Amino acid sequence: MALHVTGVVATKANEPTEQRTIVVPDPGPTDVVVRVRACGVCHTDLHYRNGGINDDFPFLLGHEAAGVVETVGENVTKVAPGDFVILAWRAPCGRCRSCLRGRPWYCFDSANASKPMTLEDGTPLSPALGIGAFAEATLVAEGQAVKVDPAIDAAAAGLIGCGVMAGLGAAMHTGNVGPGDTVAVFGCGGVGDAAILGARLAGARTIIAVDLDDRKLEWAKGFGATHTVNAGTGDPVEAVRALTEGNGADVVIEAVGRPEVFTQAFFARDLAGTLVQVGVPSPDMTLEIPMIEFFGRGGALKPSWYGDCLPTRDFPLLVDHHLAGRIDLGKFVSETIGLDGVEGAFHKMERGEVLRSVVVL
Ligand SMILES: [Zn+2]
Ligand SMILES: [Zn+2]
Repeated sequence: MALHVTGVVATKANEPTEQRTIVVPDPGPTDVVVRVRACGVCHTDLHYRNGGINDDFPFLLGHEAAGVVETVGENVTKVAPGDFVILAWRAPCGRCRSCLRGRPWYCFDSANASKPMTLEDGTPLSPALGIGAFAEATLVAEGQAVKVDPAIDAAAAGLIGCGVMAGLGAAMHTGNVGPGDTVAVFGCGGVGDAAILGARLAGARTIIAVDLDDRKLEWAKGFGATHTVNAGTGDPVEAVRALTEGNGADVVIEAVGRPEVFTQAFFARDLAGTLVQVGVPSPDMTLEIPMIEFFGRGGALKPSWYGDCLPTRDFPLLVDHHLAGRIDLGKFVSETIGLDGVEGAFHKMERGEVLRSVVVL
């Protein structure tokens, strides 16, 4: 039986979202229906709402979620009704050219539900990042529902599905931070703070948080930053060098997505250092860096999508780290709200007042 539930839908670019009744169909053979327990409000949802991703309105927003499996398709084997799962927007196919090259974290043909959720009049919905979880229930592919220990609080668990994973993975997988490394993180919102947490978990010796907002720098300390730099009070490149014996950091993570910040991060590296870009730029931005500096400094410039994660490997691991007290994901949850609070949460996010607002159902 198809479910009729409430969801948060964006029907037109830059217009406020609406709570609408949505229809979640019975799962196809490889699909699962998940009762959503929690879903974080991420910048990408706001980009969808404002038409910044594509024009496939109406969107069912929400993609940073955890919930309980309700029904499964006939061929589903990895999860069963009652399992507590975190939803992933990457479900490697195992067959595309990237998976076959042994790089499933770049999968070019990630799985999604086999049929659309709709409005009551039958209009198909575009679920944000193939998830759509600002809703009481959602339909995803089996591979997108990753079973984890249900002992974790749902609000904290959901964040692993996007921002926390993107940041931790940027440090641990893309940046390959190791014991004793020096790390600088430019931009201390949710993803940047998760990168700081990842750097600490990986054993970094020095972790320098860089931001323009003293409140965010205070938050960054709580996640493991050993030093903070307010980039509004001087040259942050010089400040990072001064904190690393004049050398620059081994790994610099750009979590803002702006060319001027990228350039600062580029020069804040030590020779042969790695720059990881996890902040999402807009299509009009361009970079200009002297080519001799790129060549002469060596090292690596690496974009990080979703922290180069493998959800089935990494989500249960991060849950275990949280439950063992090695990381505290609860600190990312600034407030819990209902589905009616999503619009307000977008405004708080734009004003930089919250790390994460989380819808709890
Ligand atoms: Zn997100
Ligand atoms: Zn693939």
